[in-house]
Amino acid sequence: MADHANPFESLQAQIDDASAYLDVGDDVLERLKHPERVLETNLSIERDDGSLDVFRAYRSQFNGDRGPYKGGIRYHPGVNRAEVKALSGWMVYKCAVVDIPYGGGKGGIAVDPREYSASELERLTRAFAVELRPFIGENQDIPAPDVNTGQREMNWLKDTYETLENTTAPGVVTGKAIDSGGSAGRVAATGRSVMLAAREAFDWLDRDLADATVAIQGYGNVGSQAARLIDDLGGDIVAVSDSSGGIYDPSGLAVGGATDHKRETGSLAGYANTESLTNDDLLTLDVDLLIPAALENAITESLAPDVAADVIVEGANGPITPAADDILTEQGVYVVPDILANAGGVTVSYFEWVQNRQRFSWTEDRVNDELERVITEAFDGLVETYEATDTPNLRTAAYVVAIQRVVSAFQQGGSWP
Ligand code: NAD
Repeated sequence: MADHANPFESLQAQIDDASAYLDVGDDVLERLKHPERVLETNLSIERDDGSLDVFRAYRSQFNGDRGPYKGGIRYHPGVNRAEVKALSGWMVYKCAVVDIPYGGGKGGIAVDPREYSASELERLTRAFAVELRPFIGENQDIPAPDVNTGQREMNWLKDTYETLENTTAPGVVTGKAIDSGGSAGRVAATGRSVMLAAREAFDWLDRDLADATVAIQGYGNVGSQAARLIDDLGGDIVAVSDSSGGIYDPSGLAVGGATDHKRETGSLAGYANTESLTNDDLLTLDVDLLIPAALENAITESLAPDVAADVIVEGANGPITPAADDILTEQGVYVVPDILANAGGVTVSYFEWVQNRQRFSWTEDRVNDELERVITEAFDGLVETYEATDTPNLRTAAYVVAIQRVVSAFQQGGSWP
């Protein structure tokens, strides 16, 4: 496979890898390798200077056998149809492996949001919401934040939908601000599940995360929250990076200070008493735990032989190409897969949706306790399957668990004339 794997082909390869350990016919599996439908649309908005800009936007609804389609909306220049399809498929298996009652979806706009003003981004988001309106809904398809989107965009989506539908339906999107129907604990949720998955993996390997050295690629929502929470447990975060490069301190970074520095200067570079390093240097550091928390295809076939970490917990979606994954398995590196490790975001999105449907808010402690229960139970189930089968690694075992659940829901639904 090429170094820059097509993420949709990566997803299909992961399903094929699991199929050898499943008692499921090829016809049923074929259904699980393609989206049910993909919306591809053009959005045109007026710039602040009066000119017109046109953007390609997508929403993929991959599979709804277990519940409404669920997944984020990404704003990034690299957004394309194959990426959105792959990300929507990963959502299906993510929701299934942690056993929450959702299918999978994903959307995105090919845009670099740094080049647009807040009012231009608001017009763009509302234009997307108008196109999405016939397809989304509290019971149909529920978007959420992803790369370069957050509470602000979700509030605009909800407001557009509710205005056009002449209703209140806070559960139509998740990841909203608290006063717009968001949940306590949502912002830190994905970083928290990365921390929990790392803690459980180290326990399983008879090691202690409190004694571990840790490197984290990507210092956005997921990477920075995982850094804070692992630091709280006593782990030593020795290196972190963003798209402009990384910083390294072998004796352990002051995580709070690094976060403040990035907030104040827009980058990690130049943080006091640290060495600078490239992203490839970071990914090949000799650490106990490596967390890729940026984008897909960070660890490729050419980089994998140089990876020196003992354990990788995937904060990002699809950060390891299938060819790289095979090399890491041969090298004895334990990889806790994205579909479990970063499932905290969708799990707390599910709690947000439950609270919206009940019109009743939970405390942050309740959210965090329920999240811990979901992730630890999912990790125990994954290890049980891994140890009971000949699956070569935790990823394949996770797909076995997830696919079995999706197939079971599909078969219980029976056939339709
Ligand atoms: P974000 O936009 O907040 O942060 C992304 C970070 O990655 C930024 O620090 C950016 O500078 C950095 N980055 C981008 N390209 C890089 C590169 N080539 N090398 C190093 N760093 C790079 O996004 P996020 O919400 O933290 O999402 C990160 C990943 O986690 C994505 O794969 C996303 O799909 C996944 N994810 C996010 C959530 C969530 O709740 N936010 C949930 C599940 C999965």
